[in-house]
Amino acid sequence: MTLPLKLKYIAALLALVFALSLASCGAQRPVEREFFCMDTLCVLKVYGNSGAADGCEALLTELSRAIDPYSDGAASVFNKTGESDSPDLVGLYALSDEIRKKTGGAFSPALGSVIKLWEAARDTGVLPTGNELENALGAANGRVFSENGILKKENAGTLLDFGAVGKGYAADRAAEYLKENGVASALVSFTSTVAAIGTKPGNEKWRVAVRSPDGKGNAGYIDLEDGQFLSVSGDYERKYSIGGVDYCHILDPETGRPVKNGVRSVVVIGGSGAETDALSTAVFVMGVEKGSEYCEKNGITAIIMTDEGMTFCGNAEKTFVKP
Ligand code: AMP
Ligand code: MG
Repeated sequence: MTLPLKLKYIAALLALVFALSLASCGAQRPVEREFFCMDTLCVLKVYGNSGAADGCEALLTELSRAIDPYSDGAASVFNKTGESDSPDLVGLYALSDEIRKKTGGAFSPALGSVIKLWEAARDTGVLPTGNELENALGAANGRVFSENGILKKENAGTLLDFGAVGKGYAADRAAEYLKENGVASALVSFTSTVAAIGTKPGNEKWRVAVRSPDGKGNAGYIDLEDGQFLSVSGDYERKYSIGGVDYCHILDPETGRPVKNGVRSVVVIGGSGAETDALSTAVFVMGVEKGSEYCEKNGITAIIMTDEGMTFCGNAEKTFVKP
């Protein structure tokens, strides 16, 4: 059967429109990558550039190896030998030490000796002795310094642990890499730290759910702006109990003991992942009163959750969407 010329033209046009709409449907779907990194699951959702997603995965895998004290990378070598010239480690330590000073020591990147003690307690069910704690704290307070681009330590027992800042730092590096590679819309998630690049197609903001610390669903949602990072520190993350007493994975660097101050979780939103990550941990250590005062004074957008409710700091209430 032969179609009149006009009909042929319309059919061809329809086929083209259909093909275009299929193509745009394809473009609407992000390239997704899921892989284990920084001791957690990393999820990348990247619109429009699968090469950038692959490159980002490779970068994060390499970075994770460098700063994980339990792998064979730079942090682990530093902890064993007392020296490292890895630019990733030297840079992350410098950044972390700045945040340590800014938070009055509530966050510290050199708590490895104390963290190790409590991890052993969690595994054996035996609490550390006062003497063990004192020794571990002494090592944690040892001087770590940079000399001609080489990171060094004075006390052989000082161990770096970037558990409270590494995911945020990695999110910073991932966002930077994706932008440099022409990505205008992406989400990088390490579960407890999330980075937003641009908006979703259709100008829809990246929406992140904030878990309720009592485990009953979500407390609410935050719509992230382009270039924003969100980090959460929660006592539910790696909780354990010894002799019927619950302990959380966040430690007070002053006492060397797990924090028990009524805070259940802290959400921080800001323009740097390393900062939001380290600050969510630091504000958790500070507690509701000191933590909210600190956030207000320093222009930090945060939500501090306890069993009694939520304390909003900075712009947090405006950006919080109730379920
Ligand atoms: P986060 O879940 O980001 O709050 O980080 C908690 C992890 O960081 C813990 O599992 C420890 O490895 C480490 N950590 C615990 N307390 C602190 C602290 N006060 N400062 C720095 N790192 C800490
Ligand atoms: Mg943190």
